[in-house]
This record gives sequence, C-alpha cells and structure tokens, in this order.
Amino acid sequence: MANSKYTPVSVDRFALYEYVKSFEQTDILLPATWIVVRIDGRGFHKLSRKYRFEKPTDRRALELMNAAAIEVMKELPDLNVAYGVSDEYSKLVSTIVSTFTACYIYKWQSFFPSTPLEPSHLPTFDGRAVLYPSIKNLRDYLSWRQVDCHINNLYNTTYWMMVQRGGMSPTDAEKELQGTVSSDKNEILFKRFGINYNNEPEMYKKGSVVYRQFQFESPANDRADSPQGKQGEDMGYDLESETSRTQREKQRKLRRKANVVVEHVDIIKDDFWKGRPWILS
Ligand code: ATP
Ligand code: ATP
Ligand code: MG
Ligand code: MG
Ligand code: MG
Ligand code: MG
Ligand code: MG
Repeated sequence: MANSKYTPVSVDRFALYEYVKSFEQTDILLPATWIVVRIDGRGFHKLSRKYRFEKPTDRRALELMNAAAIEVMKELPDLNVAYGVSDEYSKLVSTIVSTFTACYIYKWQSFFPSTPLEPSHLPTFDGRAVLYPSIKNLRDYLSWRQVDCHINNLYNTTYWMMVQRGGMSPTDAEKELQGTVSSDKNEILFKRFGINYNNEPEMYKKGSVVYRQFQFESPANDRADSPQGKQGEDMGYDLESETSRTQREKQRKLRRKANVVVEHVDIIKDDFWKGRPWILS
C-alpha cells in the first residue's frame, strides 16, 4: 500500500462507516496509580496433564513462564516488576497478554523438547488489570500472591508426597489434609517422608520476581543514580518541558539496556524493596 491505506474504498463510503470509530473509548486509567496486569494460564490444570507436567511442580514449566516474563520485560520498558507463581504472572503497567503468550509458545520447545505442542491444545492466557493507588496497596498485592504461593506449594508438596511416595489415593490424601495448618503439613513431610520443607527449592516456595538490574546497583541510598531517582530530581510533574521529554527518553533507553533478572526471594519484607528502590519509584 503506497500512500493511502484506504485506496480501495471511496471517501464517501468511508465517511459513512467511520462513525463507529467514536465507539472506541480512550482507556482512561487513573493517574498516579499502579497498574497490575495479572496473567493466568487458561485451563492449565488440563494443559499440564495433557503435556505431562511433573507433579507437584514442573521446573521446566516454571522456567518457561520466567523466560516469557523476561522477554515481556525486555519488550516493554515501561514495566517495573513482574512476579510469577504456577501458571500466573502479575505485571505492572500495560502488559500485553499476547506478548507473553507469543513468547511462551515460541520458547516452549526449548523447555519441553520431547513434548511438542499440538494445535488442538495451545497454551493461552487471560489477563486482568487492577489499579492500586498506593505503594502499600501494591506491595500488599504482591505479598498476597507470595503468601498464596507458599500455601499452595506446601499443600501440593505434601499432597503429592502422600500420593506418590505414601501410596495413598488422591481422595484419602485430600481428606487427611482437610483442615490441617502449616505445621501439620510440615510434620507429615518430615515424619513420613524425611523432608524438611525449608530445603525445598526457593523457586517453588517463593515464586519468581523479575526486575531490571541497573549497573550502578547498589546500597539502598544510592537513589540518585537510578533512572527514576534522576526523574524525581530533574522533572517537574506539572509542566512537561523539552528537557523533561529528552530526560524521559534517556530513561527509557536506560531501562531498555538494563539487565532483566529473576530472583526467588522474600518480597513481603522491606529488604527486597529497600535494596532496589528504583523498582517502585
Ligand atoms: P498499532 O500498533 O498502533 O496498531 P500498526 O503498525 O499495527 O500500529 P495499524 O494502523 O494497525 O498500524 O495498521 C496495520 C498495518 O500493518 C497496515 O498499515 C499495514 O502496513 C500492515 N499490514 C497489516 N496486515 C497486512 C497484510 N496482510 N499485508 C501487508 N501489510 C499488512
Ligand atoms: P483457569 O483457566 O480458571 O485459570 P486453571 O486450570 O489454569 O484454570 P489455575 O487455578 O490457574 O487453574 O491453576 C493452574 C494449574 O496448572 C495448577 O493447579 C496446576 O495443576 C497446573 N500447573 C501450573 N504450573 C505448573 C507447574 N509448573 N507444574 C505442575 N503443574 C502446574
Ligand atoms: Mg490496526
Ligand atoms: Mg495495529
Ligand atoms: Mg486460576
Ligand atoms: Mg490458570
Ligand atoms: Mg493460576
């Protein structure tokens, strides 16, 4: 198509139909809020059976989720942080589910070389956006996901040990676990199977947090060195001047160049955030 996209259609007919464009509404998102887009695999319970994910936790599947999240972070420099558990991933700011899905499918074969995808069972994801007005809300959201990760992982680890190594039927295992608290499950793991839950892989217990690592990474008070620290100093929030635009472009470039890393650490306590102040600024 050379000059006009619409050459095949006459101008009048175009005008006749063009009004439908006004139905498109600008996505109005509250300013000064944190946008979390949570991505979750659709029907992954079934999909994990179809492709024989190892139970309770298939490391390849988690690493594939992480790899897709890293690609999305690289692709969309506006994202600040991503946190993943099981078949879900939570991201800040305009994450695009399709970018995630595309990367996930593209990378599938490196993680499951002997289990090719079948066209009738392709992985897809749903995504929902939630706005959180304060950093506290946002951190509480992430804490909530990490607590959920711990609860599910402890349950799944115990359940599958009872079934796989304890020879119990799924129904019996489920029944016995009903109403138990964490310490009960820890005890079952330890007494019956000699497993100390604390020694389970960090990725399973804590999930995965993905963020940008900047070269000048550093002790907590080194803030001025981070792109956002500079922004705080040099940029007025009211008027967007020429310099602030240039400044912002510079920051985007910095963000693009930064290394994207994955860690399996506590994100509930302050330490993680204090040591990486640029993530939530
Ligand atoms: P945005 O991300 O904002 O949607 P865009 O680059 O996708 O930007 P569109 O207005 O959606 O722009 O237009 C899609 C463009 O993609 C077309 O102008 C054309 O250049 C190209 N394109 C789409 N489908 C085809 C096709 N089948 N063959 C050749 N070019 C195509
Ligand atoms: P929905 O479409 O409503 O999200 P779902 O089947 O995906 O349904 P979820 O609550 O999202 O249900 O749970 C995801 C399920 O996927 C888990 O219960 C587990 O069975 C499976 N799963 C996800 N990741 C892994 C993994 N790494 N190893 C083993 N199983 C996994
Ligand atoms: Mg288009
Ligand atoms: Mg387009
Ligand atoms: Mg779900
Ligand atoms: Mg799901
Ligand atoms: Mg899920």
